[in-house]
Amino acid sequence: PMKQAASIDHLIREVVMLTESESLLRNCEITVESYHDEAYVSIDIKQVKQVILNIVKNALDAVEEMQVERRGKIDILLSSDGQYVKILIRDNGKGIDKATMSRLFDPFFTTKQAGTGLGLSVSYRIIRNHGGTIRVDSQVGSGTEFIVYLPLAE
Ligand code: ADP
Ligand code: MG
Repeated sequence: PMKQAASIDHLIREVVMLTESESLLRNCEITVESYHDEAYVSIDIKQVKQVILNIVKNALDAVEEMQVERRGKIDILLSSDGQYVKILIRDNGKGIDKATMSRLFDPFFTTKQAGTGLGLSVSYRIIRNHGGTIRVDSQVGSGTEFIVYLPLAE
């Protein structure tokens, strides 16, 4: 990838702005909280933006299905240790069952009518190519957490 130093907070805020109209339309609130001073990563900005956008869009789809029961909410929490920046994206959507979880990162696996099933497989590859990882934790009926780790720039 074409790597460039970038502020992760800045990148996340840009992605949130891109999803603003869609989240308004779906009556979903998105918040961003940062627990570090600026954190810089050496990344292909376009690719990493695409990853975060994919995860947030999936979260928007997941909360939509629960809207009759509760208002959609997506929280993005940013923090870092000495080595990695941690981007946690939490939704209060429908959650992921076991069968889906086991195929989550498979290319073309989707549970959506018009899904491509490519978002997470591509995202996984991009993050691995950056020396990072993606973790997922979910509870059916209550929500999902995606955590993306990326190495901090020197
Ligand atoms: P697509 O969005 O086109 O279906 P993805 O690769 O982005 O493809 O996601 C694959 C599948 O993972 C989705 O169809 C959905 O079933 C599940 N998924 C991903 N993110 C979430 C989430 N936040 N909550 C519930 N299910 C999710
Ligand atoms: Mg997707």
